[in-house]
Amino acid sequence: MLNKSIALQICSHNGLEPLALCASAAESAILPAMQAAATQPPAFHLMTKPRGAICNLDCKYCYFLSKERLYPGSDFRMSDNLLEEYIRQYIAAQSVDEINFAWQGGEPTLMGVEFFRQAVRYQQKHKRPGMRIRNALQTNAVTLDDEWCGFFAENDFLIGVSLDGPQDVHDYYRVDKGGQPTFQRVMAGIDLLERHKAEFNILTTVHAANEGHGLRVYEFLRDEVGAQYMQFIPIVERDNETGYQEGDKVTDRSVSAEGYGRFLIDMYEEWVRRDVGRVYVQIFDIALAAWTGAPPGLCIFDETCGLALALEHNGDVYSCDHFVEPDYKLGNIMDIPLDQIVVMDQQRDFGLAKRETLPQYCLDCEVKFVCNGGCPKNRFITTPDGEPGLNYLCAGYRAFFNHVGPSMNFMARELAERRPPANVMLQMARYDTELERAFASAGRNDPCPCGSGKKFKRCHGRRGK
Ligand code: SF4
Ligand code: SF4
Repeated sequence: MLNKSIALQICSHNGLEPLALCASAAESAILPAMQAAATQPPAFHLMTKPRGAICNLDCKYCYFLSKERLYPGSDFRMSDNLLEEYIRQYIAAQSVDEINFAWQGGEPTLMGVEFFRQAVRYQQKHKRPGMRIRNALQTNAVTLDDEWCGFFAENDFLIGVSLDGPQDVHDYYRVDKGGQPTFQRVMAGIDLLERHKAEFNILTTVHAANEGHGLRVYEFLRDEVGAQYMQFIPIVERDNETGYQEGDKVTDRSVSAEGYGRFLIDMYEEWVRRDVGRVYVQIFDIALAAWTGAPPGLCIFDETCGLALALEHNGDVYSCDHFVEPDYKLGNIMDIPLDQIVVMDQQRDFGLAKRETLPQYCLDCEVKFVCNGGCPKNRFITTPDGEPGLNYLCAGYRAFFNHVGPSMNFMARELAERRPPANVMLQMARYDTELERAFASAGRNDPCPCGSGKKFKRCHGRRGK
C-alpha cells in the first residue's frame, strides 16, 4: 500500500482506484504471494459493466463500443438477480476490510439511478461487520442531473469524468451519436457534481488531437475545471476489423509514442514547479513510488498483473477490461464462483506473462524498475534488434521516466528524510534562476546551458526562446 501512502503525503489523494487501467496498489504486494502459493488473493479488482458496451456517446477512439458484437440480441442490462449475486460473491471472495466496486461501461448511468440505489442496498445487506464499501463510477457526465449528483454525494461515490481538455481538443473525438460535440454538456455535469459536493476526478485520454497540448490541457484541467486528481490514458487503438488486440497497425487517432512522452513531460515541468502537494497526477505518483523503491502500484507498470478483471452485464468475466475477447473469457459467475475464477490457471498465466514475455531490450533498460514494459495490450512492436513484444509507447515512456529522474530522486530523498517532497519546488526555482544566469552569459556558439547538447543559438539562444 506504499503507493497510496505516498499519494497521501503528496496531495492527500483520497484513494480512488484508477478506473480505466486499474489494479489496486495492493495488487503489487498480493500477486507474487498468490502466484507462488496458487491460493486465493486477499483482494482483487473487478471492473463492472452493467450496461455492457452501450453508450449514449460515440467517441471515435472508444475501444469498447465494438464489444457490443460479442452479445448479439442482448438487452445489455444487468439483471437484478445477477446484480445481487455479483455483489454477494465479490464481497465474499475478498478477505480485506475495504471493498471497492468499480462501475464502468459503455456508460453505466444508462442503467438509471435506481439500479445503483439497489446496488448500495445489496452491498449493505452482504457486507461483513466493520467492512467499508466504496464505489467508483466512470462516466462521460452527459446524463448527470441533480438526482444523480445528490445520490453520488449521499452515498460517497467517487466519480471519474472523461474530459479530454479544452473545448477544441475535447470535441475532436468525443461526440454523441449524432456527431454533435459534448464539451458543454460535460462541463455542465462537472458543475452539478461540484454543486452537490460529489467527489470527482478527471480521466483524460491522450490522442492525436491533444498530444501536442500537454501544458494547455493540464492548465485547463487545473485552472478552469479545478481538478485536483487527474489521470492521462494513452489512446493506442489497433487498426483492424475485429476490435481485438490484434495486428501491429494503429489508427490515425492514436497518440504517437514520442507525443505521449512529450505530453507528460510538458505537464510535469509545470507540476514540479507549482503543484507538488496540491495536484495529483497518477503517473507522477506512480513514478515517485517506484523511485522510493516501492512497486509502482498500477498494473501497467507492475511486474505482473492479473488481478484486475472485467465483469460483463451478463456475468461473464474476462481477464482484463482491455481483453474482453473470446480467448480471454474465464467463465460466468452464475456457473463458476468468482473466487474460483480469479485463481484459474488461465488467469494466473495471463498475469505472469506480463513479466515472462518481456524482451531483453526491456530487461536491460535503465527505467525498467518503473516501466516494467508497460501494458501487454500495447506490446506489438519489435525492439531495435528485432525481438517482438516491445511496447508501442516505449519511446515515450523512456523519454518521460528519464526526464523526471533527477527530480524524482530528489523527492524520494526528501521522503526518506521525512521531509515533504513538495520541497522539490524550491529546488526547481533555484535551478531555474541559475539557468537564467547561464543563458544570460552564454555565447551564441556555446553548448546550451539547458543540457540539450545543441548550440545555444539553436536552442534557448534562439530569438523568442
Ligand atoms: S493487461 Fe494487465 S497491465 Fe494491461 S490493463 Fe490489463 S491487467 Fe493491467
Ligand atoms: S521504457 Fe521501453 S525498453 Fe524500457 S522497460 Fe519501458 S518499454 Fe521496455
